[in-house]
Amino acid sequence: MEKIYMIPVNDAYNESCGCPICRLRDKAETNYLEYYLGPSLMEPDTRKITNKTGFCPVHMGKLNQAVTNRLGLGLVMHTHLKDFHEELDPKLKASIPAKAGLLKGRNSDYKQKFNSVADLIEKRIGSCPICDNLNEAMGHYIEVICWMFSHDHEFKDKFMNAEFHCLPHTAMLLRQAAKLSQNEASDFVDALYNNNSKTFEALISDVEYFTLKFDYRNTDKPWGTSKDSIQRSMRFLSSDGRDFDVQQTKKQS
Ligand SMILES: [Zn+2]
Ligand SMILES: [Zn+2]
Repeated sequence: MEKIYMIPVNDAYNESCGCPICRLRDKAETNYLEYYLGPSLMEPDTRKITNKTGFCPVHMGKLNQAVTNRLGLGLVMHTHLKDFHEELDPKLKASIPAKAGLLKGRNSDYKQKFNSVADLIEKRIGSCPICDNLNEAMGHYIEVICWMFSHDHEFKDKFMNAEFHCLPHTAMLLRQAAKLSQNEASDFVDALYNNNSKTFEALISDVEYFTLKFDYRNTDKPWGTSKDSIQRSMRFLSSDGRDFDVQQTKKQS
């Protein structure tokens, strides 16, 4: 089993708050964002890739928020725009149909041309080297987590005591468990189930309490653990935490 993935997995499970796999993803994503804003920008091989792919909307947003290398971001954007324009411009122009008149007949070829230009645009705006790298790293992490659960007692305890595994990452763990032997899978999914069931029940009860606090008769009751239960539920359902926290801070300030 690859050791380079074990260290970050252990680190993520050593912290006790939230989903450890979300932490792994966030750290890996930050590393890739820094990589694409760092010296790699000037490497012809990297630029060859980013000229073609650009970045997906989510990662463009995150690169834009990172203010460390505006010039680098500008250079990448410039050559990506040029590459995109060079490919799209002639195809978009060629898709414009001639007007059907008295001399020229109707021709429905243009419909197919529009769709294929749209396909080209959608394919290009969806491609992203950060997503590709991240998906690959997450595949390794999930594999290592399953392996360590069966081979490392200390890790097994940490896994069982994780605060929760969010639902998208639970699905990834289940897909990996489908590759295990039946006995290994039985222990692993039992632990996953207990963790999942406990989290669901706690969130349902906290969110219910949150709604009951709006009843004037409960105004003076303490919030307990329910105050941030909406954000915690969103994080559990979707795995992405940052935007939810921003919303909460905005409302409270
Ligand atoms: Zn997660
Ligand atoms: Zn992306």
